[in-house]
Amino acid sequence: MTKAAGTERHDATCSSCEAVCCRLTVVLQPEDRIPDYLAACSPEGLPVMKRGSDGWCVALNRANMNCGIYETRPSVCRRFVMNGPYCKAVRAEYSGAVSPGAPRKPDALAP
Ligand code: SF4
Ligand code: SF4
Repeated sequence: MTKAAGTERHDATCSSCEAVCCRLTVVLQPEDRIPDYLAACSPEGLPVMKRGSDGWCVALNRANMNCGIYETRPSVCRRFVMNGPYCKAVRAEYSGAVSPGAPRKPDALAP
């Protein structure tokens, strides 16, 4: 979601990743300006980015696996650092899944 300055050897890059972080639940913040058709209400009553039946955020461009609203993406997405601890954790979990592309119950991407 956000590219950190400098990457270590063997670290992932967003350009070669299957946008794994875009399968997490993104909780919207008051300052976010997201079109209503891209947002949903979580079972807990929180405003979140809507996800498709494939498990990815509906704002993700499936053709290139890039964010389709990059310039106006939610603040939570802006703070998600490439190769940060959370990035590494979600990629490790995704690569270890039995069916990596299958929808799963996501962890909340907390503010
Ligand atoms: S999981 Fe990490 S490497 Fe993959 S797109 Fe997200 S920030 Fe980039
Ligand atoms: S808004 Fe963009 S960066 Fe955030 S989860 Fe959706 S596709 Fe990914």
